[in-house]
Amino acid sequence: MLKATQVGDVTEIRMGRSLDGKTVLYWVAAYLIDGILIDTGCDYSKKELVGFLEGKRVSVIINTHHHEDHVGGNGLLAQRFGLGALAHPETIRVMSRKYDLYPFEVEIWGYPDLSTASPIGTVVKEGGISLRVIETPGHCKGHISLFEEKRRILFSGDIWVGERPKTARVEEDVHQLISDLRKFEELKPKIMFASLGKVVAEPQQVIERTRVYLEETRDEIRRLHSKGKSSEQILEELFERESVLAPATQYQLSTKIFIESFLRDT
Ligand SMILES: [Zn+2]
Repeated sequence: MLKATQVGDVTEIRMGRSLDGKTVLYWVAAYLIDGILIDTGCDYSKKELVGFLEGKRVSVIINTHHHEDHVGGNGLLAQRFGLGALAHPETIRVMSRKYDLYPFEVEIWGYPDLSTASPIGTVVKEGGISLRVIETPGHCKGHISLFEEKRRILFSGDIWVGERPKTARVEEDVHQLISDLRKFEELKPKIMFASLGKVVAEPQQVIERTRVYLEETRDEIRRLHSKGKSSEQILEELFERESVLAPATQYQLSTKIFIESFLRDT
């Protein structure tokens, strides 16, 4: 399923797999600004994305990171429109090879076609627009965010998913996430477009609250850990129970991983 909304100069393109034609398992957003397409959704929505972009001006794709819900349309867009992509070298390394997905990833997003991209520089200039590349590897290695200086528009990829996250994946680095959020604060964005399809106007306070929450959670987890508590005991004390997402994701996204990520070295 695909739903598009215009927000100022930005077209928000929300996509996801629907089994019944009405509900979507998990939304992810791509964004189109002045001919630059940021991310391409998952494999299940790639044909709808190509149909939606038919007749529209698109000059280049930028992928924020390699996850299968962000690069799924790259192959078909290259085939149909000859569109090239730009990404971080680490993203290119992963997206251009076949790799295993967990069953939940296959169910929700599917295997992306193998595709490649050119290494992105520090700025992407296209038409009248200039996007600054911000390295934000807290979500996964090679993750980038993009910032349009004049209108102060931030495309935050998967760095910001909500104000009080309680789960993480193994490849996430919460210490780095805190640094990434600090970088966002310094940019003083006027609007933030997040990959989950959340658009936040005047997001400075939201970003700051998220960063402070993560720092306070880190300090609390460290305090309990220094008293000899196990990650299971910390989970019970601070969060009561494991996230419902954990069993649904074969325990690849869980509160236990979130806690243990704070206990890894900075
Ligand atoms: Zn991701």
